Amino acid sequence: IPESEKFRIEYWELEEAKLRRMPAPRPLATRVALVTGAASGIGRAIARRLSAEGACVVVADRNTRSAEEVAAELGGPDKAVAVAVDVTSEEEIAAAFREAVLAFGGVDLVVNNAGISLSRPLLETSAEDWDTQHRIMARGSFLASREGARVMKAQGLGGDIVYIASKNGVFAGPDNIAYGAAKADQAHQVRLLAAELGELGIRVNGVNPDGVVRGSGIFAGGWGAQRAAVYGVPEEKLGEFYAQRTLLKREVLPEHVANAVFALTGGDLSHTTGLHIPVDAGVAAAFLR
Ligand code: NAD
Repeated sequence: IPESEKFRIEYWELEEAKLRRMPAPRPLATRVALVTGAASGIGRAIARRLSAEGACVVVADRNTRSAEEVAAELGGPDKAVAVAVDVTSEEEIAAAFREAVLAFGGVDLVVNNAGISLSRPLLETSAEDWDTQHRIMARGSFLASREGARVMKAQGLGGDIVYIASKNGVFAGPDNIAYGAAKADQAHQVRLLAAELGELGIRVNGVNPDGVVRGSGIFAGGWGAQRAAVYGVPEEKLGEFYAQRTLLKREVLPEHVANAVFALTGGDLSHTTGLHIPVDAGVAAAFLR
């Protein structure tokens, strides 16, 4: 065998050995999850589901009081801790991961869920709206993914990063420039990080919900009124309106989004990375605005 071939063979053997050492996804009961924006709505439902599956959960949110209530509901310090964090702050994100490691010994799963909506028509969208929207969703999830990857790489056990992105990051919803563009940024972070972190056994996937009105602080805090005006329906009928425009004629609840996070991280999707799962009862498939 020529020298160059020998080298190639050795190289492939080395690669194979590396692949054999690659940690298989572990059951949620052995894992620690940090969920941003877990004090309310979809994030709270995800925290509840991961906790019910046995994971230790870090409830990371800037709404400290509600985060503490969620952590207490999940069983207190041995099962869940609340961490006050503004996801736009590099220092606070680093501190949140430090607290997670101190509380539970590591982090294996990050859910980038924290978000707001400053949806308005283009000509009413200020530069400040644009910056705030992107700081929380694009920068915030970049920071949490980076810190999570740092911890996971040091642990050498692989891991999961899940982005709660949106149908609006793929399709053009009405009057949605700041929010939709920030969601599109998150969607591409999923693909870029899946490509970069795959060899560490870190899978990166997205979930794209739509029309989760009930339980959503975003909808209750002004977005509902804005969307109701866009679609020409009374705000109290918005949930029904969203359900009726789906292919399945079903209302999407926070728990349905949590089911998708579980499927990606604790179910059988061990060889899936870089994917976005729609949880919208068929809206994106039918390209309904
Ligand atoms: P929500 O308001 O109930 O939850 C958002 C949480 O994020 C809140 O607890 C809030 O305190 C927290 N948060 C906001 N800014 C933060 C910051 N800077 N630092 C830390 N925490 C912060 O809203 P929701 O509807 O549950 O939305 C959760 C996620 O799902 C968001 O990213 C949203 O864009 C996304 N999403 C929601 C829908 C929907 O229909 N509700 C659809 C698609 C995507």
